[in-house]
Amino acid sequence: MRVAVVEGDGIGREVIPVAKRALEVLRPDIEFFPVEVGYGRWERTGHAITDDELRELASADAILFGAVTTPPSPDYRSVIVRIRKELDLYANLRPVWGNGFDIMIVRENTEGLYSGVEKIEHDSACTVRCITRRGSERIARFACGLARPNAFITIGHKANVLKSDVFFREICIAEATAAGVAWKECYIDALCLDILQHPERYAVIVTTNMFGDILSDVAAYLVGGLGLLPSGNLGDRHALFEPVHGSAPDIAGKNLANPIAALRSAAMLLEHRANDREAAHKIEKAINAVRARGVLTRDLGGNHGTVEFGNEVIRELESMIRN
Ligand code: ATP
Repeated sequence: MRVAVVEGDGIGREVIPVAKRALEVLRPDIEFFPVEVGYGRWERTGHAITDDELRELASADAILFGAVTTPPSPDYRSVIVRIRKELDLYANLRPVWGNGFDIMIVRENTEGLYSGVEKIEHDSACTVRCITRRGSERIARFACGLARPNAFITIGHKANVLKSDVFFREICIAEATAAGVAWKECYIDALCLDILQHPERYAVIVTTNMFGDILSDVAAYLVGGLGLLPSGNLGDRHALFEPVHGSAPDIAGKNLANPIAALRSAAMLLEHRANDREAAHKIEKAINAVRARGVLTRDLGGNHGTVEFGNEVIRELESMIRN
């Protein structure tokens, strides 16, 4: 198995080496190759990503991705949005689990408000929210495929205001009905509150691109912050795994980043691309063992650095492998 490793910018450069080491310990058979993309590369070369890197990423069996900085500039195109689109990574899985709840946010990843159909003019700016039948059908089908027996999916939308969500909602309902999966629905703004108040009410949530992005950051509150949440970007041919968090320039280079989200993203890679649930489970077990000893990064109230926390997890994994 060949895994492309993109550290990217900011804390991506600190958390990905930890996640890569975990994979190396668990699966010495994996062949890694680095791919350099992102804002740092743009500053040096004038290109954040080229067709060559896209080809390299497409050649991998899986991609382990850190984070890239995207400046709010009119002519800089987000690297990760481009990769998701070009590799057709249409399903963004963002699991959030904790005491008494186990939620999978399934976010449409290639269209909606992040379609890139937009323009800034002198007195106005406009972003088109494209929702297609094909895009909605396949994300709804994906979500239905993840529903547990006798469980329901929740459709997160804003169909009371947005016609594009009237369309999305109807397609999701049709797909759920065809798949024999029960469904509920919730306006996305109400869902952002209810997921915090009653997380146990939710299992699989399917929603559009930006709503899913926001909802998962909101849901991070349930587990102690962005440093903990992993994600998988899946398509029919390619797969990319990355923390939900971004490059966090405020803490970058200070050994403060929590590498748990990156480690869990590596675990998702093992589960989804190597079909190795056992190894994925070991990563989670090692994280929990280290946390239980009170070894925590600052975001979780501790005083350990990225490197120190990472070393503890790697030691834990090594001792699991030995025994
Ligand atoms: P982007 O726009 O790429 O999402 P951002 O800087 O706006 O980047 P994040 O990188 O997601 O947003 O981070 C938001 C804040 O959450 C950061 O400023 C940081 O303080 C905190 N944070 C994010 N990831 C981590 C982490 N792994 N460990 C600790 N704190 C984190």
